Amino acid sequence: MQSRLPEFCDLFQLADKTATMSGSWPISKFPRLVEMLHSDSGEAVIELEFGRSGRTRFLKGTITADVEMQCQRCLDSTTVSLKSEFNLALIELEEHIARVPEQYDALITEGRHYLPDVIEDELILVVPIVASHDSKCSSYLNEQVIEPVIQEQEEEAKKPNPFANLKDLL
Ligand SMILES: [Zn+2]
Repeated sequence: MQSRLPEFCDLFQLADKTATMSGSWPISKFPRLVEMLHSDSGEAVIELEFGRSGRTRFLKGTITADVEMQCQRCLDSTTVSLKSEFNLALIELEEHIARVPEQYDALITEGRHYLPDVIEDELILVVPIVASHDSKCSSYLNEQVIEPVIQEQEEEAKKPNPFANLKDLL
């Protein structure tokens, strides 16, 4: 098991060698994914298996990542756990898509490929359209409601007593 993930590699060669590798990359490595998120914090844990099945060269993988998204109720940040399991047939030409066995999705590649692009595409596919807190959100909202009330009371205390001058008039 190789612990470092290569950025540029020949996917066909790795499939022929039945290579396996695992490692992690920071979420900040995936700019298109980051655009969909609340921050670029976190990392993706990646396990990859290359191989051949009959005439098909494949890349199987599992990615897990905890990412920060904006809660659509309270607009605060919430952690979303992403998990992607994929099984890609590596093909050279778009015309070959029809030949790809059913259990695979097709990845068109010349062989040499920027591996983070593959990981990023798979993560983007599992990002939910909207995110929200489950139970924590309501307590956050309650805090938000309490705050202005306290401020109002403080302001009330600062205001001069409207009856203060009344005493002088009498
Ligand atoms: Zn929330």
